Formats: sequence, structure tokens, C-alpha cells
Amino acid sequence: MRVDTKGKEECCGCTACESVCPHGAISMKADSLGFLYPCIDDSKCVDCGLCVKVCQFGKEYSREEKWAEPAVYAVRLKDEEQLCRSQSGGAFYALAVQMLERGGVVYGACFAEHFRVVHKRVGTVAELEELRGSKYVQSDLRGVFPRVKDDLRAGRKVLFSGTPCQVSGLQSYVGRRLRAGLYTVDLVCHGVPSPAVWADYVDYVERKTGEKCESVKFRDKAFGWASHRETFCFAKGRKLDRITFRILFYAHYMLRDSCHVCPYTNLKRCSDVTVGDFWGWTKISREFGDNKGVSLVLVNSDRGREMFDEAQSELYLIPSNPTDCLQPQLQNPSGRHRLRESFIRDYEARGFEYVARRYGDLGWRYRAALLKGRIVNALRRLKSKI
Ligand SMILES: Cc1cc2nc3c(=O)[nH]c(=O)nc-3n(C[C@H](O)[C@H](O)[C@H](O)COP(=O)(O)OP(=O)(O)OC[C@H]3O[C@@H](n4cnc5c(N)ncnc54)[C@H](O)[C@@H]3O)c2cc1C
Ligand code: SF4
Ligand code: SF4
Ligand code: SF4
Repeated sequence: MRVDTKGKEECCGCTACESVCPHGAISMKADSLGFLYPCIDDSKCVDCGLCVKVCQFGKEYSREEKWAEPAVYAVRLKDEEQLCRSQSGGAFYALAVQMLERGGVVYGACFAEHFRVVHKRVGTVAELEELRGSKYVQSDLRGVFPRVKDDLRAGRKVLFSGTPCQVSGLQSYVGRRLRAGLYTVDLVCHGVPSPAVWADYVDYVERKTGEKCESVKFRDKAFGWASHRETFCFAKGRKLDRITFRILFYAHYMLRDSCHVCPYTNLKRCSDVTVGDFWGWTKISREFGDNKGVSLVLVNSDRGREMFDEAQSELYLIPSNPTDCLQPQLQNPSGRHRLRESFIRDYEARGFEYVARRYGDLGWRYRAALLKGRIVNALRRLKSKI
């Protein structure tokens, strides 16, 4: 078995194989949706098998040193200003600040040129700003794992945050000997949308407005934590909000293939701490009822307990349990949309605007469906009054 002959569903794009290859024989190549897959240069490969050994993606991922069951909390930052800058309740910020104050470094997802999503290393609280907020696109990890290893070899503490498959791949790549310095935070993960569709969408918005975007938010908290609208900011404070990307994301037209068979959608976490949105938090308390955000925190190991205890002075927290925190992404992978393959064919042949009209909210189909929904609801209301 070679890593470049795996089926698409069997590779999450974590880059562990590329990073481990001692002969530089693997490069990550993008498919039509912009998802990266390993590609082996036969003239450099010596068949040592390291790339296959390091690959963690599958049912048997390692949970070394992790607890059988997590300790569960609903969490929120005490500092309201910082809370509003975080996607959920700000659990990641509290954990990351602690790590930086202890002299460590933090890795997480940020924007590079033209709002491409990549992982980055930060060493100060000011730099941490870039990592905050969910970027609902798969981040590019090329070159990142070897940097993490260099930090660990230099004796630095490292906090790495990312999707569960990224965390799992990194832990495998780093190996047992260096793992003492590595602290990991993963996300409850719905799946990662296509980087190529995202890039085309940003182009589309800039073309239509005739302006360059200065900043973007995938889920702007200005509309409230529970709402989901993407916003684009331009010069002179002009702001545009849309739901096109959200619709294509949640309909599951453009998630990575591996997300539909993801082995990490359960409470058997591979990280030290898991963070997410605590949907359904009202089951345990009404305390955070202002739509400013509540984090779900799962503490999964002794190291996770150490991190969480250090951060606790910055947080309001309410203990919960594995039953009340369950959301679909902690039970099953996201299902494929029945039109996913036709979406991809149309995208490849006709481009972003076509699929956004046909499958998203830009065309007559979406408006017709909305109208139909309104008529059906109105008729139901009328019927209930008769
Ligand atoms: C693709 C994706 C899908 C998600 N799906 C769910 C879900 O179904 N249910 C749920 O409860 N929560 C989900 N989350 C997590 C949630 O949106 C918040 O990111 C999480 O609760 C952290 O919020 P915070 O306030 O603690 O952190 P913030 O301060 O907002 O920090 C954001 C954190 O997310 C990381 N991050 C952001 N974008 C990416 C990315 N593209 N790849 C890897 N890491 C990234 C950053 O490195 C940082 O650690 C998802 C996040 C992403 C990126
Ligand atoms: S899952 Fe990661 S290690 Fe495995 S083949 Fe894909 S990129 Fe390589
Ligand atoms: S088998 Fe060894 S040399 Fe060949 S690509 Fe994999 S890690 Fe590199
Ligand atoms: S759903 Fe699974 S495979 Fe997809 S990005 Fe999340 S952890 Fe990785």
C-alpha cells in the first residue's frame, strides 16, 4: 500500500506522510476542489514504508494517554470584550494565552494571502488575534509539522490547535519521545469545505462589488453567536453580509471526501482538550442566555486537565456530562448530499457562479424554494385557525 494510492476517503490531508519522508519524495497536490493529497516521486522513493506507518487516518487512530471518557464543561470567558472576538465561548483563547504566558508557542489556523486558510505559529498574545474565529475551509498544513518538531526539539512547549485529523496526524508524526512538550486542542468538527470554492467566492464578491476585501468573517458574531452569516469588510467600513458559503457548507456539497467517513466524530477524542460550540447548553443552565457564545470543553487527558486548570481563572464554567453535550458531530460523520457529485461536476465544468446559482442562494431555485416554504407555512397557520 502506498499513501498516494489510497482512495480519497482514506486521506484527510494532514501532511504527516509528506513531513516524515526522509527523501523529500512526497508533495501534496491539490484536486479540483483545492484539497491536498500526497503524490510520490518514484525517482526519490526508497520504499521505506515510513509514510504508511505514520498515517493515522482510520478507525484505529491512537488515543495514547487519553482518558476513557472526557470531563465535560460549558465555558465562557469572563472578559466580555475577548468573548465577543472568539467564535464560541473563547475557550481556545484562554488555553492559548496560558501557554504563551508559560513561554510556549501556539499553532492554529489564520488567513494568508487572499484569505487562503493556513496554519501558523504565534509566540505572543498580540499575534494570537489572527488565529481566532472559525475559518470554515480546510487549512493548509504544508511545512507546519516539521516546525512543530523543531520547537519541541528546542525544548519549547507547543500548543497545537486544529481539526481532530490534523491533531492525530501531528501526534503520530512527532512520536513518543517528543510528545511530552506537545499540548493539543482539537475542534468538534462538522467537516472542512473546499479551499477552491472559497477562493472563487472571495473573487466573485470582489468582482461584484468592484472593491478589495480588507477582512472577512465566516460567522460574524455581530449577528449573535447562534446565527451564521459570512461578512466581507471593505475600505471606509463598508460591510457586506451573505449566506452563500454557509448554504453550500451545511448542505454538504463540498466537504472533503474523508469528512463523510470521519472516524473522529465521537467522544473518544485524540486530543488533550476538545473545544466546540455548546449547542443545547440550556439543558444544563440558563446562565449564558445572551447569545454571546458558550464553549463546549472536553478534557480528555491529564495534560488536558493541566492546561484547563491553568486557564480556569479566566473562565466561567459549569460542569456538564457526556449526554447533555452530544451534538450530531459527536455521533456521526456528516452525510453526503445526494447531489454532491453533480455539484462537483458542475463546479469543474462551469465554475463558482454557476454552482452558487444552481445549488446556493444566488439563483431562482433558492428564491422559489423560499417562497414555497413561506406559502406552505402560511397555509399551515391558516389551517390551524380554521
Ligand atoms: C471547519 C470547522 C468545523 C467546525 N464544526 C463544528 C461543529 O460542527 N460543532 C461545534 O460545536 N463546533 C465546530 N467547530 C468549532 C467552533 O466553530 C469553534 O472554532 C470552536 O468552538 C472554538 O471556538 P473558541 O471561541 O474557543 O475559539 P476561537 O478563539 O474562535 O479560535 C478558533 C480556533 O479554531 C481553530 N481553527 C479555525 N479555523 C480552523 C480551520 N479551518 N482548521 C483548523 N482549525 C481551525 C483555530 O486554530 C483556533 O484554535 C468547527 C470549526 C471549524 C474550523
Ligand atoms: S491522511 Fe495524512 S498521513 Fe495519511 S495519506 Fe493523507 S496526508 Fe498522508
Ligand atoms: S516509502 Fe519512504 S521514501 Fe518512499 S515516499 Fe514513503 S517515506 Fe518517502
Ligand atoms: S470531519 Fe474528520 S476528516 Fe473532516 S476535517 Fe474534521 S476531523 Fe478531519
